[in-house]
Amino acid sequence: MPDNSLSAPATTLGAQDNSCHVRAVSGLGAKSPAAFLVEYRGKRLLMDLGAGPEPGVRPDLTGLGQIDAICLSHAHGDHVGALDARGDHGNPPVWATAATWGQIDTALVPQEARRLLPLKGSTEVLGTPVMTGRTGHAPGGVWLHLPGAGREGGGFTYMGDWTVESDLFPFDMPPQADFLIDDASYGNRDQSLADQIGALAEAAREGAVLCVPAAGRGPEMALRLAALGLRPLPCPVIRREIEALATDDSGIIDAAPRAAMAALLKDGQLAGGAPTPQDIVITTDANAESGLAADLLARREEGFRFIFTGYVPPGTPAERLVAAKQALWCGWNVHPCLGDMLWLQREIKPRWVMPAFVKPASASKLAEASHATLLWEPGFRF
Ligand SMILES: [Zn+2]
Repeated sequence: MPDNSLSAPATTLGAQDNSCHVRAVSGLGAKSPAAFLVEYRGKRLLMDLGAGPEPGVRPDLTGLGQIDAICLSHAHGDHVGALDARGDHGNPPVWATAATWGQIDTALVPQEARRLLPLKGSTEVLGTPVMTGRTGHAPGGVWLHLPGAGREGGGFTYMGDWTVESDLFPFDMPPQADFLIDDASYGNRDQSLADQIGALAEAAREGAVLCVPAAGRGPEMALRLAALGLRPLPCPVIRREIEALATDDSGIIDAAPRAAMAALLKDGQLAGGAPTPQDIVITTDANAESGLAADLLARREEGFRFIFTGYVPPGTPAERLVAAKQALWCGWNVHPCLGDMLWLQREIKPRWVMPAFVKPASASKLAEASHATLLWEPGFRF
């Protein structure tokens, strides 16, 4: 039974008024950090509090005021990187899955402020019912659903980042909801991961440095390239991620891909040792600013060829190299493409969708085909 001492006033209020006010503090209209405020049943819940992905970009929290709770979708920097500002907003407790907490430093959120979300299931956040499910995007990543939110009780869902194209991380279908904050990062892109993998394998065959973020696409890239007969060389960070996934029993990965991770390690499908320009190196970080990627970038004259596969933020080595045609860019979907966004709309039948993390001009096809009303203004009450 929940402790009713804190939630009693809100529950009383909620019985009379389920209206829900959503405000995109950041993350709407551009590839900007995630921070979405939901005011519901007398509580102020913040969905994510990120920084980046461009270096130095932080959300403008002016006028945000006191927050009652923060809920995290996953541990990527553009979703958690501004948690150091928590103290300016009442030092609220923070909810996340155990796997997400495992990726966040206690210097950013101390143990005493940490609360647990299930990977898939129901819980309460300060008396507010919250449902979660896995998003296919990152270890421990979840969507958040507030059942019954809204004047007509149709519900609210925040997707965080998601994809249904991963062979590694499962995706759980969210319930139907009137209001959806969707991950529209790719806007009009409608190329499948299957097609992208073939192109990447061809480009990398003679040797490449494939730059990836930590806790992201690295292990799956190793798996898919090995399946094509290539022998990728993971950097120590990615190798540890593969080892952790091969033995994970927390629910972030299902049995079949877990066995595939174990087979990668056991069957000699991965290369080891010091990387040479002929190796297919999978390494952090995504923009060659740190890690083995930065070390190999400093040795580029030896013949290391760089390939970037994600969003290339301005002001990074990745952006400079790609712009100068000194590195390749090959897409690797970790967000939904256009067809998948429309599929999700058909499944959960929202009336209103806030398309997050994209410029309106890059989402013109989504706007044409959307079954729901797209919202580009930051505030909305339903
Ligand atoms: Zn992410």
